[in-house]
Amino acid sequence: MTEVVHTPRVFSGIQPSGGLTLGNYLGAIKRFVDMQESGIETLYCMVDLHAITVWQDPADLRHNTRELAAGYIAAGLDPAKSILFNQSQVSAHAELGWIFNCVARMGWMKRMTQFKDKAGKNAENASLGLFGYPALMAADILIYHSTHVPVGEDQKQHLELTRDVAAKFNHDFGVDFFPMTEPVIEGAATRVMSLRDGSKKMSKSDPSDASRINMTDDAETIAKKIRKAKTDPDALPSEVKGLEDRPEARNLVNIFAALNDQSVDAVLSDVGGKQFSEFKPMLVDLAVEKLSPISTEMARLMNDPAEIDRILGDGSARARKIANPILEKTYDIVGMIRS
Ligand code: ATP
Ligand code: MG
Repeated sequence: MTEVVHTPRVFSGIQPSGGLTLGNYLGAIKRFVDMQESGIETLYCMVDLHAITVWQDPADLRHNTRELAAGYIAAGLDPAKSILFNQSQVSAHAELGWIFNCVARMGWMKRMTQFKDKAGKNAENASLGLFGYPALMAADILIYHSTHVPVGEDQKQHLELTRDVAAKFNHDFGVDFFPMTEPVIEGAATRVMSLRDGSKKMSKSDPSDASRINMTDDAETIAKKIRKAKTDPDALPSEVKGLEDRPEARNLVNIFAALNDQSVDAVLSDVGGKQFSEFKPMLVDLAVEKLSPISTEMARLMNDPAEIDRILGDGSARARKIANPILEKTYDIVGMIRS
């Protein structure tokens, strides 16, 4: 079989499951903007069907979807350059997701650490959707034949599963149809940790607001959270290896580097030897400088929800134009009659 070469296309998504965090910004949105500027076709989604794998109040979901769209745009995504839309308006995601439920294996799903983390001790009571989440995520990506997916480190396992789904589909049907998508996990902060616990990922669904910086936090709140962030009593090292076994220190240095578009080495050569009492105020100033223009713009955009809905409607129509022919072809490969 001759190998099909797929045109480069970037897809990624974020759940409207709460406010955006600094982790989402540094691990995902900032990378989304870089890829938009690289000139490749880019599609960025608000994955509302994923959000409801855990309970969402309907009014909050609507608000959070618009706020996420505002966050995308405020951070530099341009609806004229990137296709911005919410997942439920493009039904091909759910349709391909069903087909992938029949391709993916129970054993694959059982190995997913996100399910284990989110379901916790009460897995029997988790929704079936939370368990099947990675099959829908594979569909989100592959319905566009996406070649590159910028994500944070925590999504690496789901990207591997996406490749497994594509390979099994191609093999089972004897086709070379779905591409082997590459994860793009880049930057100094691919895994931003909780400010309260250096072993836990910063998450928008963490019950503790002090654990994260929200994109909508004002300067005073950002300053308070960073001042209270857990650290250790030692001074900062001058080299990266000095951050080993110091997860909280490493986290704050990584955040500084990512916000300032610097390498961790470059940051440490400037701040090595400083105490946290000196470094934390530097981080506060940098975080406020970088985040406050974004939060101000988000608030401005949120004053006109009809305009946000219009942008999502327009993006969805453009996304459907790419997705629907791929869905039709998939149905044909599988053997469905589409008269
Ligand atoms: P939830 O707690 O509801 O899962 P989340 O903060 O993990 O929310 P997601 O919508 O699951 O956000 O993820 C959106 C994107 O943000 C993904 O690419 C994910 O890898 C990235 N991301 C999430 N948290 C972090 C983090 N702490 N550091 C870096 N990237 C992150
Ligand atoms: Mg998550």
